[in-house]
Amino acid sequence: MADYKHPCMYCERFIPADSRICPYCGSHDPFVRRCPKCRNPVEADYARCPGCGFLLRVICPYCGQETFTGNQCDHCKGRLTVRCSNPKCGYEQYPASEKCIKCNKPLR
Ligand SMILES: [Zn+2]
Ligand SMILES: [Zn+2]
Ligand SMILES: [Zn+2]
Ligand SMILES: [Zn+2]
Repeated sequence: MADYKHPCMYCERFIPADSRICPYCGSHDPFVRRCPKCRNPVEADYARCPGCGFLLRVICPYCGQETFTGNQCDHCKGRLTVRCSNPKCGYEQYPASEKCIKCNKPLR
């Protein structure tokens, strides 16, 4: 059903169930958590990604609490992402590696 809505797991506002990006907060994959490195679906309480072994817990630089390595802190909602500096790309992502996951250029 086209008008069926689900809550975005980041901002908790209701958005269309087929959304790939939340229209309110701009988060990618608003219904499933993914490893920021290999994009495997993961659970919020995993310590590491079962696909690539990437550490999925990080200390939030804003509130100092441990959170998932996603787009934002689970506690204070502080943004954990960086924007790709390639002007043609500009993809916002968690800095899981030195390179942009979209265009493969160095992030900084
Ligand atoms: Zn949202
Ligand atoms: Zn992974
Ligand atoms: Zn925080
Ligand atoms: Zn990029």
